[in-house]
Amino acid sequence: MKEGKLFILSGPSGVGKGTVLRELLRQRKDLVYSVSATTRPPRPGEVNGKDYFFLTPEDFQKGIEENLWLEWARVHNHLYGTPRDFVEKTLQAGKHIILEIDVQGARQIKKKCPEGVFIFLAPPSLEELAQRLEKRGTDSSQEKEIRLQNALQEMEEQDDYNYIVINDELQETVNRIKRIICDEERGN
Ligand code: ADP
Ligand code: 5GP
Repeated sequence: MKEGKLFILSGPSGVGKGTVLRELLRQRKDLVYSVSATTRPPRPGEVNGKDYFFLTPEDFQKGIEENLWLEWARVHNHLYGTPRDFVEKTLQAGKHIILEIDVQGARQIKKKCPEGVFIFLAPPSLEELAQRLEKRGTDSSQEKEIRLQNALQEMEEQDDYNYIVINDELQETVNRIKRIICDEERGN
């Protein structure tokens, strides 16, 4: 059986990755989302096992020792990791899977799986990024400050990605990513 394709989506916090992915997964039901593990506390409305697997630092560490994570990184003072088994089984079953991970994690995946398709979601401007973090209203002012500071470093890595998509108008962004997936499926 033909293996599925691995897609990686990165971009600074608040750029709209979660929003774009929700819409993309609604429109492409065949695409599988990789639920990450994290030590970050859940935000209001987030569901364990759907948005993230919320772990204690001890359990996350145990996962590192047991080689459970395909990649893992410390991002904004919390630990995040991709469950290896789920990704490998999904690809072996011939399904496409999409990972929403930071630039450090993407670098690790690029080494292990260079055939992956790396997509960087960029904001129209830093001012707009700050406004989106503000509008989301889920982070303390300290968390927002850390996220904006990290955004500058993350943006510097965008040239290492196969595609850079500017998330200006939501539906246009989703259409652009859908086209990328179709092109990659056809082997372009
Ligand atoms: P991320 O997952 O990258 O941290 P979110 O998906 O939580 O970002 O989006 C952050 C905020 O920006 C949310 O309030 C969301 O509604 C808003 N947003 C997302 N995409 C767009 C867009 N294309 N135009 C305007 N606002 C957007
Ligand atoms: P948030 O806390 O806003 O949900 O996510 C913060 C950052 O962690 C985002 O940049 C997101 O892409 C990244 N992230 C989420 N899951 C993973 C993961 O499994 N691995 C890595 N390396 N980063 C992740």
